[in-house]
Amino acid sequence: MLEFKNVTKTFGDVTAVQDLSFKIEEGQIMGLIGQNGAGKTTTFRLLLKFLRANEGQIFWNGQEISADDYNIIGYLPEERGLYPKLSIRDQLIFFAELKGKKRKDIEPKIDYWMEKFQVKGNKKDKLKKLSKGNQQKVQLIATLLHDPKLVILDEPFSGLDPVNAGILQDGILELKKQGACVIFSSHNMNNVEQICDHLIMLKSGQTVLKGKVSEIRRSFGRTRIFLESD
Ligand code: ATP
Repeated sequence: MLEFKNVTKTFGDVTAVQDLSFKIEEGQIMGLIGQNGAGKTTTFRLLLKFLRANEGQIFWNGQEISADDYNIIGYLPEERGLYPKLSIRDQLIFFAELKGKKRKDIEPKIDYWMEKFQVKGNKKDKLKKLSKGNQQKVQLIATLLHDPKLVILDEPFSGLDPVNAGILQDGILELKKQGACVIFSSHNMNNVEQICDHLIMLKSGQTVLKGKVSEIRRSFGRTRIFLESD
């Protein structure tokens, strides 16, 4: 289980994240929603230990999260970092080997996720031959090849058309079925409402809405949730 307990992060006068608390069990999906500057990426960077919180703690299965937990995490950063001149296969093997995976174990996983995400391209193709949406899927696959228990996706739906967004939603639901704990950020409430168990809405670092999606929908109705995110 992942737990944020009263986490605050400031940058000078700016409070990027204020007193953030939540828990997510394995096999659950949480959506972190908010406009630009809401504090979503900062939340992820705190979790990854790229940043140190001013206050509060972050726990994974009851222990404060540390650099040793890096291999259980799969992180899709907002700024994608792929190598356009490498083939899909070489690229994915490179990332998985960095996480300590053996080449023979990686190949079947590449095939599995390429099929799941319906990547239009051959493993031997250079990445730059693929459309932007397919490149994005390859980057996501790079995040998953070491079977992370905690999957953090920063704006995974950005730039995807509705068909590919649907394919990605199915992939995220598959991770849930496999028992991973998934958090993703989004500006778009549709993706959050459709697949998340929990949501947190941030505005200028403050938690303005938090809870189970089913309960929030019952209390506020879809339109109200949508308006809150605007
Ligand atoms: P976006 O959707 O644009 O990525 P976000 O919700 O991810 O937005 P953050 O990037 O977490 O928002 O930023 C939250 C606030 O913290 C913003 O006001 C931002 O300017 C500020 N901030 C983030 N990182 C730094 C930094 N390294 N130094 C100073 N201020 C920062």
